[in-house]
Amino acid sequence: MSANNTLHIAVLGGDGIGPEVMAPALEVLRKIEATTELKFRFTDAPAGANNYRETGKSMPESTVRLCDEADAILLGACGLPSVRYPDNTEIMPQVELRFHFDLYAGVRPARLIPGVPSPIVGADARGIDLIVIRESTEGLFASMGKGVVTDSEARETLVITRKTSERLFEFSFRLAERRKARGKPGQLTCVDKANVFKAFAFFREMFDEAAKRHPEVKADRLYVDACSALLVKRPWDFDVMVMENMFGDILSDMTAGLIGGMGMAPSADIGDRHAVFQPCHGTAPDIMGQGKANPTAMILSTAMMLDWLADKHGIEGAAEAGERIERAVDKVYADGIKPMEFGGSNGTADIAKAVIEAL
Ligand code: ATP
Repeated sequence: MSANNTLHIAVLGGDGIGPEVMAPALEVLRKIEATTELKFRFTDAPAGANNYRETGKSMPESTVRLCDEADAILLGACGLPSVRYPDNTEIMPQVELRFHFDLYAGVRPARLIPGVPSPIVGADARGIDLIVIRESTEGLFASMGKGVVTDSEARETLVITRKTSERLFEFSFRLAERRKARGKPGQLTCVDKANVFKAFAFFREMFDEAAKRHPEVKADRLYVDACSALLVKRPWDFDVMVMENMFGDILSDMTAGLIGGMGMAPSADIGDRHAVFQPCHGTAPDIMGQGKANPTAMILSTAMMLDWLADKHGIEGAAEAGERIERAVDKVYADGIKPMEFGGSNGTADIAKAVIEAL
């Protein structure tokens, strides 16, 4: 934070609909600035498939430096199916940032906003308000780019370390405690496959040790297959869930589906010092440039950023500002806005305008 209490935010719009959803999110923060004591300085930086096409790099050194120095990082979405590395994988600076800054806790909230349709029968009445915490630096993704493929077989190695798992569980129990303090259940479920793989038995053992240090949080354990079935039958029974990277990759997309779609699901990748806030969705090339993208997930990601800044740096008023953004979004949906994403007629501009007005 600079001397005059201005929060410096690195802004990586990225590719596809990334910049389209970033613009309204910054407008929302400008509105917050106009109505609170909070002050922001936004610095744009290139990253993603377009940058790779132009320069041969997913992002320049200057972007990494900016991310290091900034108080927080906002990211739209990066990568395009048509732009690939020679080994045919997509350009993913968002994943590189996770490894570079050791952003081990991928926080993926799924809250069903009243007025938004869910495919789950009974969800309107029961509500859905859960968080998937996806370990984001190891697990099966530790093998990224290192897999071995021969003519007859392919191998990828999953890695679970004590160092990362212990930090991940501390983070998760703390988050459950903070939710409990806000009137939510404060329950944490470890999701694994400890009945089949030694690595997951090790993961669960460390979870059990952490649970002993946090007796006020109700600690649960579920196998990932059973958990998936429960999530689509009774998602309202879940509060905070913590899991390995690949399981979290899959289940967090599923929980985004439970609350109306990718355009509704915000996320944060959090480490001990740095954090990136971005929507769960990708660059959605099928709708880019048409004004159809739902900016809600990106806007809710700015609310998560404010909450993190409040918790991490004790920035006064930031947590309240985050809650105000969430309430404004809730109001807009209660008033009947319906994004094109789920069959309505409201595009990016309508939704952005409505949220700013509600603020
Ligand atoms: P990635 O691999 O980067 O996650 P993807 O193509 O698998 O990318 P998305 O880019 O998230 O996934 O898109 C999946 C589908 O969801 C697409 O049909 C897209 O149009 C839709 N979608 C994603 N985000 C939004 C949004 N914000 N508003 C409207 N539709 C969206």
